[in-house]
Amino acid sequence: MLRREKCVCCANDEAEVLYVKNGFEICRCRECGHIFVADPLAIDTAKLYTGEFFDNVYGNYDQRADVYRKTFKNYLKIIQHYVQTGNLLELGCGFGHFLDVCRGSFRAIGMDLADQALMQARAHGHNAIQGDYLDRSFSEPFNVIVMWDFIEHIPKPDEILMKACGNWFRVGISF
Ligand SMILES: [Zn+2]
Repeated sequence: MLRREKCVCCANDEAEVLYVKNGFEICRCRECGHIFVADPLAIDTAKLYTGEFFDNVYGNYDQRADVYRKTFKNYLKIIQHYVQTGNLLELGCGFGHFLDVCRGSFRAIGMDLADQALMQARAHGHNAIQGDYLDRSFSEPFNVIVMWDFIEHIPKPDEILMKACGNWFRVGISF
């Protein structure tokens, strides 16, 4: 079945409906092949990304913290190949495992929607703020903005990336 739905990657407006999951049509762009949820603004992300989300999707998320930190240390090495220090923003910071490994390297701020995740991040001493990045302004730009396993969860990935470009210092990098 064909659907008129604008692709965020190439702006083509013809998509093929592949299947329906939880009442949402999953579509594939006929031009570039990008697969996406039709009408993503109908998703209530505040209800979806609760504390239970982390355990339901990742298993016992906090018990695997050491595994995540090991991975994030490798990510940090890659970042520091380009930028060694400065202001860093993590969108979708979860429990703050990446913020943990940034200690001593970056002045890091985390953002997330999930109460339980933010409580954990703050309990580890992180500056973790709740809210939608698109609604938030920051007094200083960032040297680095990271979005680990984030972009595929949000309704407006194109707007997030556009805003991230505007929130950098003159030269910035997004992971
Ligand atoms: Zn496309």
